[in-house]
Amino acid sequence: MTPVLPGATIGIFGGGQLGRMMTLAARVLGYHVIILDPDRSCAAGAVADRVIAANFDDVAAATELARASDVITVEIEKIGAAAMAAASAIVPVRPGGSVLHIIQDRARQKQWLRERGFPLGPHWVAHTEGELAAAMKRAGRQAFVKSAFGGYDGRGQARTDPDDDAAAIWSSLGASTCVVEQALDLEAEISVMIARRPGGACATFPPALNHHVNGVLDWSVIPAPVSENVSREGVRIARGIAEQMDVVGLLAIEMFLLRDGSLVVNELAPRPHNSFHHTELASLTSQFEQGIRAVCDLPLGDTASIRPAAIANLFGDLWLHGADPRWERALEMPAVRLHLYGKAPRPGRKMGHVGAIALTAEEAVALAIDARARLAPD
Ligand code: ADP
Ligand code: MG
Repeated sequence: MTPVLPGATIGIFGGGQLGRMMTLAARVLGYHVIILDPDRSCAAGAVADRVIAANFDDVAAATELARASDVITVEIEKIGAAAMAAASAIVPVRPGGSVLHIIQDRARQKQWLRERGFPLGPHWVAHTEGELAAAMKRAGRQAFVKSAFGGYDGRGQARTDPDDDAAAIWSSLGASTCVVEQALDLEAEISVMIARRPGGACATFPPALNHHVNGVLDWSVIPAPVSENVSREGVRIARGIAEQMDVVGLLAIEMFLLRDGSLVVNELAPRPHNSFHHTELASLTSQFEQGIRAVCDLPLGDTASIRPAAIANLFGDLWLHGADPRWERALEMPAVRLHLYGKAPRPGRKMGHVGAIALTAEEAVALAIDARARLAPD
């Protein structure tokens, strides 16, 4: 296989903040970048060579992207199958359509993992309102009902009790297939990021420890302060999934650490992930550069954490106090960095993050949270 060398053009399906940060990493390596996104003024557009404004199921636009690119990758999983196939007929698309096909659909993703023996919590798939009611009862306690398609950042899901009104939940989630998961008693949440080249060579970052608030990532730290055994097991599971799915590019695996020390897989993402933004501070190679290296079939970079690093997400609410956030108050902290995505603020929208390094994971988290708190206007 011939590598795609600097100077070539990388196409990216999706122009959100993940695409923007991938584009920046690609540019540092000397690549050109074309973004396909429904929104011409998307976050990645400001830093890319060109934006093709089109929907993710637009076959003609995917063909145009492929004709102008030497390789294509994704920053979002909801790309239409026909668009993926059309692009793949022209240039390598990494990860490929079969990976997106499995991951796009939560029910199919769970089934794929279950059939291959990867650890999962108790769950049921409901295709009808009746099946939803039955599954909620069977869960026997609180459950997370997640629509099979399109959910993110805790959207497209509901937390339910066994006796809740299944009809109302069914219609609130769009009256389509959903996965019902028993609510697990979590010790912690971790994620593993693996990068894999076309020939199968792969590299994993140390697991990250993630803290969610209302289903949305609030802060994350690397390396996760968990036992060596948990870390090793997380990486082993991640490698197994990436190999069996034959992923090329990045694969993030969100996992739940249960009270007994065991891990179960929560969900997969075949792209950069919010819980690895701190790799820009912690390690020689960021997740974004690693993804570019993997899809271009270049040697993968070093993934060791030189220093513990944390990020805290900045949400649109911070902008809605009627005054600008107090950037200088975070920037005057020596171990803190600010990363903004150039998006228009809306409540709950991910707008950027603050990152911090320290000698311990606990200190890095405390610094990032403190830096964020200082941003609120008086
Ligand atoms: P999203 O695609 O929105 O990230 P997730 O399935 O990862 O959806 O759920 C978001 C968050 O909700 C998780 O990170 C976790 O904090 C919580 N959560 C989801 N499912 C469960 C579960 N079965 N048990 C306990 N917590 C859960
Ligand atoms: Mg998630």
